[in-house]
Amino acid sequence: TLTGKCAVITGSNSGIGLGVAREMARAGADVVLNSFSDSEEDHALAAKIASEFGVDARYIQADMSDADACRALIAKSGRCDILINNAGIQHVAPVEEFPVDKWNAILAINLSSAFHTVAAALPMMRQAGWGRVINIASAHGLTASPYKSAYVAAKHGVVGLTKTVALETAQEPITANAICPGYVLTPLVEAQIPDTMEKYNMGREEVIKTVMLERQPSREFATVEQLGGTAVFLCSDAAAQMTGTTLSVDGGWTAL
Ligand code: NAD
Repeated sequence: TLTGKCAVITGSNSGIGLGVAREMARAGADVVLNSFSDSEEDHALAAKIASEFGVDARYIQADMSDADACRALIAKSGRCDILINNAGIQHVAPVEEFPVDKWNAILAINLSSAFHTVAAALPMMRQAGWGRVINIASAHGLTASPYKSAYVAAKHGVVGLTKTVALETAQEPITANAICPGYVLTPLVEAQIPDTMEKYNMGREEVIKTVMLERQPSREFATVEQLGGTAVFLCSDAAAQMTGTTLSVDGGWTAL
């Protein structure tokens, strides 16, 4: 179990980050939730995890597009045995029309934030004598799609950063790996289903299988619980010799 360990999960007030935080807490870890907002609901999410799983859970506001804020998040956490870089945004446009501010924001939030948090967390992991860096990349860290230049570049960058951190910590009880999800059923994706059903004049199952999951051979979404379970596995003794690699949770996407 992860009792006594502290997991810091960036971008964790919704979707995959929240799901991973819940599975970390279920496994006994204390958790730090994060996003750029600072609302009552954000803090209530942490309180709910604390009462549900009997762990220490805090919400710390920090904007992952800001280098100093990334490093301050780790400092304020006070302890970081498990670092999960999950914050991420997307924008879709042809490369010649891609807005420069969107490119910069995606590179900052999806890639540079992981550089800053890792740099701040590694000394803490060394001090504690154990550590896990888990970067939530994407199937787009291994393959590309048109119109997603910034996202694909950032996610490939995350995979490269992961490998480098793994080599720099290879002889220590610290590992660094990337999880590469395919299409995951998050509230954001769920919200797109009714519109897509209307657009294609299809039922829920048909639109999911033939339109949304066209590139996912399993024709099923991965779930946030499955991603959380994969992250918990990476913290287990069985995974102690797994480092610098990617784990695809993509229903066969990258096998195609
Ligand atoms: P989401 O929008 O539900 O979650 C993104 C999280 O990042 C939110 O908590 C959001 O508040 C946070 N965030 C955004 N900008 C931030 C900022 N500037 N500072 C701090 N936090 C910020 O989406 P999700 O699907 O749960 O995505 C989580 C991660 O998983 C992302 O890195 C995404 O690229 C990756 N991913 C998602 C899918 C999918 O199908 N949903 C597939 C592959 C990879």
